Amino acid sequence: MSAERADRERRIAEAAAAVAACRKCAIGSQRTNSVYGEGDACATLMVVGEGPGETEDRLGRPFVGRAGELLDRMLAAIDLPRAAVFICNTVKCRPTFEEAGRLRNRAPDADEMANCRPYLDEQIAIVRPHVILALGAPAAKSFLGPKFSITRQRGTWYEGPAGTPLMVSFHPAYVLRQTGGELNAVKRLIWGDLKAVRTRLDEVAAREPASSNPQIGLFGGE
Ligand code: URA
Repeated sequence: MSAERADRERRIAEAAAAVAACRKCAIGSQRTNSVYGEGDACATLMVVGEGPGETEDRLGRPFVGRAGELLDRMLAAIDLPRAAVFICNTVKCRPTFEEAGRLRNRAPDADEMANCRPYLDEQIAIVRPHVILALGAPAAKSFLGPKFSITRQRGTWYEGPAGTPLMVSFHPAYVLRQTGGELNAVKRLIWGDLKAVRTRLDEVAAREPASSNPQIGLFGGE
C-alpha cells in the first residue's frame, strides 16, 4: 500500500471516530450507528447522498438498503465497482420522526446539515475526488443553496467544495418510487448524468500520469 493511501485511510478512521462521538444534533443520540461513509480513500468519484436510512443506521454503512442496491447498479453502468468509489451522505446520523410508535426516515433539516458539513468537507479534503456526484435534493442544496431545483437544474456541471466538479442527479430512492413512463424518463436523465460523470473522470485520467494516481494501487500490483 502506498504511503499516500495509508495516510488517507488513517485520517478517515480518525474522522469516523470523531463522527461516532459527535452529539451536536439530537439525532446523534437517537441513532443506532453513525454512518461516516466508506469506500476507496483515493477514489476519483465521491457520491454524496441524503442521510442514512433504517438499514444504514442498523449496519453503520451508507447506501446498503434498496436505494443502495440501485446505486451499485448505476455505478456499474459506468464501469465503476462500488469499492472504487467513496460513498457518504450530507448527514452521518439517521434523521427520523415517530409515527404510530415507529421511527420513520425524514430529510435532514438545515441545522443538521450545517452541523455535519465540516465532516463532509473534511471527507472531500481527505479523498480529494476528481468529481462529486450529489444525489437528491438535500445533497444538492447542501452544496448549491436552498433554492436549488433538481428537476430544473440537474444534469449540468457546477463547482463544488474545493473547486471539485459537481454533478447533481436524482436520488435512487426517488427512482424506486417512479413507474411507467415517468420511470423511463427519469432513467434516461440519470443515464445522461452518469455518462457525463464517466466522461469527466476519463478526461482527468487521460491528463494525469498513472504514477500520480494512488487509486491505481487498488487494482494493480502496489
Ligand atoms: N439514502 C441516502 O441518501 N443515503 C444512504 O446512505 C441510504 C439511503
